[in-house]
Amino acid sequence: MNRIRLILLAGLCIFVAILSIAYITVGMESKEPETTTQNTTEKISEPDTSAVEPGTENEATTQLPSEAETTTQAEATTREPETMGSEYEYAYAGFNPSVAVVDGEKWNLLLVNQKYILPEDYTVQTAEVKGGGQSLDHRVVPHYNKMVEAAEADGIDLIPVSGYRSLSRQKNNFNRKIDYYSSLGYSKAEATRLAAKIVLMPGTSEHNAGLAMDFGTNGNYTLDENFANTDAFRWLSENAADYGFILRYEEDTQDITMITYEPWHWRYVGVEAAQEIKAQGVTLEEYLGMD
Ligand SMILES: [Zn+2]
Repeated sequence: MNRIRLILLAGLCIFVAILSIAYITVGMESKEPETTTQNTTEKISEPDTSAVEPGTENEATTQLPSEAETTTQAEATTREPETMGSEYEYAYAGFNPSVAVVDGEKWNLLLVNQKYILPEDYTVQTAEVKGGGQSLDHRVVPHYNKMVEAAEADGIDLIPVSGYRSLSRQKNNFNRKIDYYSSLGYSKAEATRLAAKIVLMPGTSEHNAGLAMDFGTNGNYTLDENFANTDAFRWLSENAADYGFILRYEEDTQDITMITYEPWHWRYVGVEAAQEIKAQGVTLEEYLGMD
């Protein structure tokens, strides 16, 4: 009998020992996730440093910006998933654009219009163009100069009237117009909508990106539709694509571009795209499938 008791006792001891080991092991494992959770919590509570203040912009243009780029109608902006929503500065007036996708490799195909606006901290390195007084994105300038020289060789004067305009300048112009309409007694929202019909909202102009030039020529510097009757316009229509430039706002495309006819406004997109756009007779929006 003693032997049986001893065996039972030994068995009990072993059982208790196994239980203890099992308990300790489970206890250790269950601690691991806790540490992970703690780490994650620490990461989340780190101060958000991503909101970097936009730097001041290089005021490269000396000339007053043209306010000729009137919009036909501040149409109800389309609702797309990536819109800025109530974050947008002028959202109170019903504007709800998306932020343009800035692709460093395809910088020449950047789409800027009233639906896709430049990020507020967008910066561009500008350089002065041939003819002086105006600047463009420095990557455009060699192509621009080549085109102007080729025109000159054909006896055509292409005069730079308005190139790059800083976002801050565009913003000042826009806000001035809002103030003007407010002073006439309009509500802030109504004043903003009226301003948007006269001045393009900051970030919606290709001039803010330094990718477009408004041209004048001998006897026509006023950026009006008569530019379409000049030799300069005829020369550009024939040759600009070979230097990477397109007529951006044509007579019958304002449904898509939201800008009326501007024969003086020429946009750089690169030679390949310019020739394809010209051959297909499409807008930049249609070419990019973003109309
Ligand atoms: Zn223009």
